[in-house]
Amino acid sequence: MNTIIDNYVVNGKAIADWTIKDHNQALDTLGTYIYEPLHGVLVLGGGSKPYLLEILKETRDGEVKVEIVDGLACYSAVPFGHKDPVISEGVNQFIAQMATIPRSISHSYLGPWMVKLQEFTRMDMFLPKCSGTEANETAIKAIRKWGKNFGGKDGKGIEENPVILSAQNAFHGRGLGSTALMDDPVSRKDLEPLMEGFDQVPFNDIGALKDKFKEHDGNIAGVFLEPIQAEAGILVPDDNYLHEVQELTKKNNALFVLDEIQTGYCRTGANFAWQLYGLEKPDLMTIGKAMSSGVIPVSCLCGKKEIMDLFEPHGEGSTFGGYPLASFVGLLTIHELEKRNITSLAVENGVYLKHKLEEVARKYPTKVKEVRGKGMLISVEIFPEYDGHKLSMSMLENGVYAKETHETNLRIAPPIVIERDGMDKIASALDASLAGL
Ligand code: PLP
Repeated sequence: MNTIIDNYVVNGKAIADWTIKDHNQALDTLGTYIYEPLHGVLVLGGGSKPYLLEILKETRDGEVKVEIVDGLACYSAVPFGHKDPVISEGVNQFIAQMATIPRSISHSYLGPWMVKLQEFTRMDMFLPKCSGTEANETAIKAIRKWGKNFGGKDGKGIEENPVILSAQNAFHGRGLGSTALMDDPVSRKDLEPLMEGFDQVPFNDIGALKDKFKEHDGNIAGVFLEPIQAEAGILVPDDNYLHEVQELTKKNNALFVLDEIQTGYCRTGANFAWQLYGLEKPDLMTIGKAMSSGVIPVSCLCGKKEIMDLFEPHGEGSTFGGYPLASFVGLLTIHELEKRNITSLAVENGVYLKHKLEEVARKYPTKVKEVRGKGMLISVEIFPEYDGHKLSMSMLENGVYAKETHETNLRIAPPIVIERDGMDKIASALDASLAGL
């Protein structure tokens, strides 16, 4: 209950008195139809433990309050779960002090945040933004700038349009540049002409990438990949794939660029997924989601100095990128991740959760194709004759919010701090849901 706003009368009723139907009706008629809304449920807030959500649910007996396990953590954006006392208290204290100021004047946390970002990411320089897609748009600019100045076989710049290679089935966000990185026909529909200078290759296929380098002969400025394809269904590459891609980019004087927006910030059992594969740091990396513990949108383009130096005043900027609250909560998040050793926890909990899910999967060999993932980013893939949306609805009925991706994958990525009883609950909900599928 929020005492300041909940008595505000909207559409003839105090907000506190709105029914689930009132909420659904407003969203159905006024919200642009870009998500398939889950009807009959309304999230009220965090629950009695950090990995629980309190929801209102329509039943035959009216609306009832129940707690469910947050099995998705807002697509990895919520590592500490909800109502974390340190994050909440810190943010409350901070916003009681100030609103915002422009980037053209310094404040107390931007500098310290960047120093910690450097330690945490091992990258050289940082350009903060708000959404993941914005960070990726900025990465595309960086690749083009670098390509025009230092790309090509002789390193003196690509004269023709530099090409950026990305992977089929990738997800990089909703800006026009991010959309051009993706081959998903629904995302691209009616948007032509899309930005030029993009091409895609199958993920995890080094031969196809080598062929593309030959085809574009000296014009490739960068290869842009998610280290583990998340939206595509948690597709984990072969152990050597990313290393080979990195070597190929070095050999061909192209940038190796990673989108760690979903995989970064300890989710996969390392600060960043590239560290799982023993790579050298990428040339550019985009991060977002969990950077703020999920309380506000914060993202960032991180890069090597010689690339980031190509940006200049008046050529790039942002009202809210790196604004005081973002810097503060960004810094606080790294502090808490390190203090609580969340990377090790992601490894430990990931092993436990995957093992529990595999145990369940073995009971349904004709329904479950595979359980895969790294750390706390896991997918349960079902065979195509079964419906992933039905499975995720059934998970909700059984007390767990986990969402399907690409029809046949149930993505399971709870807050990293989830306790064993929460993971057991996910496994038992999966068992009951698969039984009824
Ligand atoms: N890149 C990846 C890998 C993502 O998973 C997402 C979001 O799911 C994005 C980019 C886009 O981030 P945002 O929705 O914050 O723009």
